[in-house]
Order: sequence, then structure tokens, then C-alpha cells
Amino acid sequence: MLSKSQYLVGLECPKALWLSRNRRDLIEKEDMSAEYRFTVGNEVGEIAKQYYGEGFEPKTEYYEVERANKLTLKSIKEGANIIYEGTAIHSQSKVFARADILILNNDKSWELLEVKSSTGAKDYHIDDLSFQYHVFSENRLNIKNISVLHLNKNYSLKKELNINDLLMKTDVTKVVLEKQKGIEERIENLIEVCHYKNEPVVDLGSHCKNCSYRDYCWKEIPKYNIFSVFTGKKADQIFLQNKSMAVEDLTETDYPNGNKKIDLISYLNKETFIDRKKVSMFLNSLSYPLFFLDFETFSPAIPIFENTKPYEPIPFQFSLHIKRNMESELEHHEYLHQTRDDPRIMFTKKLLNVCEQIGTIIVYNQSFEMNIIKLLAKSFPENGATLLDLNKRMVDLLIPFRSRWVYSPDQNGSASIKRVLPAFTGTTYKNLDIQGGMEASIKYEDFFKGDLRGKELTNYWLGVLGYCHLDTEAMVLLLEKLRSSLKT
Ligand code: SF4
Repeated sequence: MLSKSQYLVGLECPKALWLSRNRRDLIEKEDMSAEYRFTVGNEVGEIAKQYYGEGFEPKTEYYEVERANKLTLKSIKEGANIIYEGTAIHSQSKVFARADILILNNDKSWELLEVKSSTGAKDYHIDDLSFQYHVFSENRLNIKNISVLHLNKNYSLKKELNINDLLMKTDVTKVVLEKQKGIEERIENLIEVCHYKNEPVVDLGSHCKNCSYRDYCWKEIPKYNIFSVFTGKKADQIFLQNKSMAVEDLTETDYPNGNKKIDLISYLNKETFIDRKKVSMFLNSLSYPLFFLDFETFSPAIPIFENTKPYEPIPFQFSLHIKRNMESELEHHEYLHQTRDDPRIMFTKKLLNVCEQIGTIIVYNQSFEMNIIKLLAKSFPENGATLLDLNKRMVDLLIPFRSRWVYSPDQNGSASIKRVLPAFTGTTYKNLDIQGGMEASIKYEDFFKGDLRGKELTNYWLGVLGYCHLDTEAMVLLLEKLRSSLKT
């Protein structure tokens, strides 16, 4: 039977649908962010149940679709007016759908609600609800209104969680009904794909961006390819026209402009590019002592701390390297909040203790750190002015790399520090226990909820200290590299 989630995968790519039913072994990496979104989705789902109160829920195993369907239909006959996880099967196509919430209206019609942990209704929610509407209405459920129930991005936590204000409903009835056109054909086509003996042939393209099978389908493709040079429809069009992913097959008339042209020429000539004048101006804008600073944050979907909003980033760690002058030894300071209370209080205190009053503060991608400082200044107005002074001293080391004042072909078109660091220094993040900010953040939230304990927690503390330390050390190394590149 084709489920709603398989239908949605199939709409993106029929091959992904076929692989998801036949070759799940090909999903190599554990997708931590998908797992996180699933957990957060469940949390918001529980809050939605509190909001609507008691209702019928078919308590079945996930694979007992027919039993769940029978129980749902029985509950409707018996007069249920709120149903959670109601299940319906389409009598013809045999596809099935579960609805997060069904509410009986006064006129005996139904409201269909999809609960999402996002802060608004997204385009892909429409296909999701469109599938549900198709299946439930065939089961003679008169669905009159359809909405996405999501988090309210403007909600700010006061003393206690107010779920009436936290949740928000966006009516999508009109667009969902419009999407009914052609749905039967789309379902039929995807059911046919499920019966294929071999995987279908599908062109690679921009639709592969977030696919779980990307490693499998793209294994023969060079790291730097036409999708590194162009994006979206333009990349698809050039790929179709050239029938090749290799940038070597591009004709000069197709060469891009601006930064992407620098990347391409640098790759083809295997040469590092440098604009000495601009790099020199950048270096001259820095004044000692230099503070290399990096924050780690976590962003709870459901606010935990007073005056914070859904997904507001909460800083819990910083790493700071200080270079007082060209010859001085490197100093290191750090703070990691390891108790389950508001990290921002100690974080702010420790940060202000070590950042002093003069000298350039170097960060990588300043919008992130600046935003955290602004949020802290708002939440702790007694330190507001001192905190905002830090932003006035900030300089973004991303700029020389993002602006292509300096570029190595090993960056493969990206200016992220994880690409730039190995490209210029040979140092990588690969051997670290924590490999990225997302992992640091998700595991910190696990700690905060009490789900990370014992040895696992000890390893996490060590891992996250090492990760944040390398982020600031990387900036020290990159700055040295910029200096030395002017001498060659
Ligand atoms: S990587 Fe692309 S072609 Fe392969 S299954 Fe995913 S979306 Fe389809």
C-alpha cells in the first residue's frame, strides 16, 4: 500500500520512491536533522492534543492500517467529534492516509488539521494535505475546512507556556482543493513505479539536493560539477543541454559571471586566486589584540526560557582565542554551560569577562554571532550597551573568502569554514567526535531534556569543546594564511 509519506517522496522523484521501498540499505548516513524534526514534530503533536482535549485515537501498531481504518470509521459512526491519527484507505487505489486531527464541525462536516513544527504553512504541506483530503473524502467524510496547525513565530514565553498563543492555524482549504486536479493520475503513476522490477531511470538534477539517496546516485559525479557552478533550473538546463556533469564540457558562452567565474577558472587552471589589494585592506582593518570568537547555540522549537520565541537560538558555549600582538603566544578561553538552567546568564557574564574593551573581534559569518549578541542585549538590558559594543568591534573573516578576494580550487565553490580550512591549511574537522554545529545543538537539547547521560554525555562535552575550539583555531590559522599569501 502506498502511504502519504511515500507519495510525497515519489512526487519529488520516482526513483527515490522505488529505492525507499526496495533499497533502504543504500541510505548511508543516519540523518540526525530528520530524526530531530521527527521528535520535535511529536512534541508539537502532543501540545496540539492538549489544546483540543480528549478525542478518539485508534491505538494500533503503525503497520495495522486496516485495523486503524476500521476503528476510525467505527468511532465516526459512534459520534466521535475529535479524532487523532484517524486512518483512511482509498477503496480503489488502496493508498492510505493518517490525519493528525479531525474535528467535527457544528454542521456535521469535518475540519482536517495537519500539525507541523514549522512556524508557517509551507508548499509541501499542501501536497501532504491534498493526499489526505483525497483519501478521506473518498471514505465519505465531508471535509469542509483544511488547515495547517503550526507554531506561532511571534509567540514569546511568559512565566508559563500558553498553548493558545503558541499554536497558530493557517487555512489552506482553497489551495488543497485546487491540488485535487490530477491527483488520481499522480497516485496511479507512483503505484506503477512501486511495481517496477528494477529502479527507474531518472536524470540527476536540482531535485536531488536533499535526497537520502544522493550519495548512491551521485557516486560517479566529480565533487566540483556543473551543480557547483549553477543552481536550480539553470543547472538543470545546462546539464540537459551538455549531457555531462563535468565543468570541462562547458562552452565559454555558458561560463557564469562574478564569483562563480573565479571558481570555475581557478578549478580549470588548478590555481589559487588572490586579490592582494583587497586582502591587504582587510588585514589592515584589524587592530590588536585580536579576539577570535565562536558561539554554539541550541534552538528549542517550544520555548523553554522566559521572553524567548520558538526556535530562538540560545547560546550555551563559546570559544575564544586571543592574539595580543603579532609575536605573542595564543591565549585560549572557553565557556560551556553544563547545568540544566538558562545558559545565557553565565554565558553573558563569562563572555563579557574575557572580551575586554578594545581590539578586533574576528568571527566567521558575523550575522550569526551579531544576532546572538543582539538577542542577549534585549533579554539582559542591564548588560545591553556592553554587549552591543562587542558587535561594533566585529569583523567577518568569511568576507575575503565569500567575496573571492582569495579562492582555492579545493573549496569546490563553497566559502564555508569546513571547506576553506582544509583547502588552505590541510587541517580538517573529519577526526572530531562532533562534526558540525547542528550535531552540537541537537545533542545539547538532548542533554537539556535529560536524554543524554553518563558516558555519552561525558563524550559529548569533550566533543563539543573540541569542535568549538577548532572553529576559533581555524580562524587563527586562516588569518595567518592570508598574511603569508601576500608574501608569495
Ligand atoms: S538522488 Fe536524485 S535521482 Fe537519485 S533518488 Fe534522489 S532525487 Fe532521485
